[in-house]
Amino acid sequence: MSSAKVVVSGHPLVVHKLTQLRDRATEPALFRTLVREVTQLLFYEATHDLVLHRRTVQTPLAECEGKNVGDRIGLMPILRAGLGMADAVVEMMPDVRVWHLGLYRDHDTLQPVTYYNKLPPAPSIDLCFVLDPMLATGGSARLAISILKEWGAKRIKFLGLIAAPEGVRALTEEHPDVPVHLAAIDSHLDERSYIVPGLGDAGDRQFGT
Ligand code: URA
Repeated sequence: MSSAKVVVSGHPLVVHKLTQLRDRATEPALFRTLVREVTQLLFYEATHDLVLHRRTVQTPLAECEGKNVGDRIGLMPILRAGLGMADAVVEMMPDVRVWHLGLYRDHDTLQPVTYYNKLPPAPSIDLCFVLDPMLATGGSARLAISILKEWGAKRIKFLGLIAAPEGVRALTEEHPDVPVHLAAIDSHLDERSYIVPGLGDAGDRQFGT
């Protein structure tokens, strides 16, 4: 069994908003809002161990010893469903770097193939988040993390909304050093690799396609 850390948020707000996300009656505008809100709640939980540096500020009344986030953070949203998650994190932390990763599944091999990757030549960050709302087979997440490791990234976390047990197993077996943060782990994958009960196609539901 893998020793990877898998955290499923049980926060009541996450559970409440995830249920709204799953509802087939939820329209794209509200769906995007909910993706943003759930992502921000999960990101808050997943960043509990960020490094802080001392910083002194002047309040209107006195000098105050405060702290700044010291870790430089990079996001790797997997296109296209990860875009809404990246926007959510950028809203909270405008200084993060964002590297989009485009993958498609080869029809014959069923393996993910990279079609877009604009990583700079050398890592300039301390902590990378791979963002993908649906951890289904785990193929895309595994490849994204391998790409980041080959690039030289040392600390990586995965942030997703819903996972299938199959995806969690595949990801944590290949990358046991990468903590996984989720809102739910569902029952299983269907024959088309959709998560059941899931929420359908996270890209289509965000973008109304
Ligand atoms: N991607 C999705 O958008 N939904 C799933 O259920 C699985 C993969």
